[in-house]
Amino acid sequence: MVSSRIVIVSLVGVFLAVLIGVYIVSQEGIDGVDVSDVCPPSLTTVIGKVSDGVQSGNVTVYFIDAGVGDSIFVDTSDKDVLIDAGERHDGEFIASFLVSINVTKIDYLVASHPHFDHIGGLVTVMERFSSLGIPIHMVIENGQDRNTDLYREFRSYANEIGVTLAERCQIYQLDSETEMVIVSPPQPLLYSNHCENSIVQMIKFRDISFLLTGDIEPLSEAEIVESALNIQAEILKVSHHGGGTSSTPSFLSAVGPEVAVITVGAENQNGHPHQDVLDRLEDVGANIYRTDLQSTISITTDGVNYSIKTKN
Ligand SMILES: [Zn+2]
Repeated sequence: MVSSRIVIVSLVGVFLAVLIGVYIVSQEGIDGVDVSDVCPPSLTTVIGKVSDGVQSGNVTVYFIDAGVGDSIFVDTSDKDVLIDAGERHDGEFIASFLVSINVTKIDYLVASHPHFDHIGGLVTVMERFSSLGIPIHMVIENGQDRNTDLYREFRSYANEIGVTLAERCQIYQLDSETEMVIVSPPQPLLYSNHCENSIVQMIKFRDISFLLTGDIEPLSEAEIVESALNIQAEILKVSHHGGGTSSTPSFLSAVGPEVAVITVGAENQNGHPHQDVLDRLEDVGANIYRTDLQSTISITTDGVNYSIKTKN
């Protein structure tokens, strides 16, 4: 009786020691960098170092009114990120908008996937920034090419800058407390469909997370929900401009957004956003913002609270 009690006490002790060990590893992360709980630490790769001496400040995410396409700019106190830039003809406006908010460099230029409403304007921004002498330090893409003149043009600019392949659980340090976690795609890519392979990333600053989903569809949404990743986020960029086959109930309930931003053109040919998606977002209690109605939407956070500004 006594010996079995000792065995039980010992087992409880070992269990507690393991728990404490897991807790310490998850807090310290890897390579001495604090990492969040989006990805299991064992799967995480940290990319890039933040600049010495730069303090964390507010983070602002701009959902730029890019017509029917996407364009998102992430402004931190150190590294800045541009994700997509609408269609080719939207790029001029987006480049001017970035200059108007005093952007002096882009650290990471992300092409979510090679469709014209995402990479078209990126070509224009790369051209315009090159002529203005505004540096772009790295291009991130998913590695799926496309047999179009637009993609070849995008790639020739990107090759001059330098291209990094996005892969699940890479963490790009944006400032001392802000990170961009690649949620999807895993490599090698799982789908032939370009939308499903979209880069999905989490921007995380202290308690506030933004989940940016490109144009992913139900297969990718289900794969992400079933993965080991924590995708809970306060702010969700709704996938595929509010298309009805995306934003599945299981994906939305895993994210649990307080705010849903739909990047969509007023005169799109696809009936975006679909009423079913608006209903599903309301079902999870999200407040809906739309670039077709409110134009550019910016969300600023101090890591605890956030405030939302709209142009209209
Ligand atoms: Zn799109």
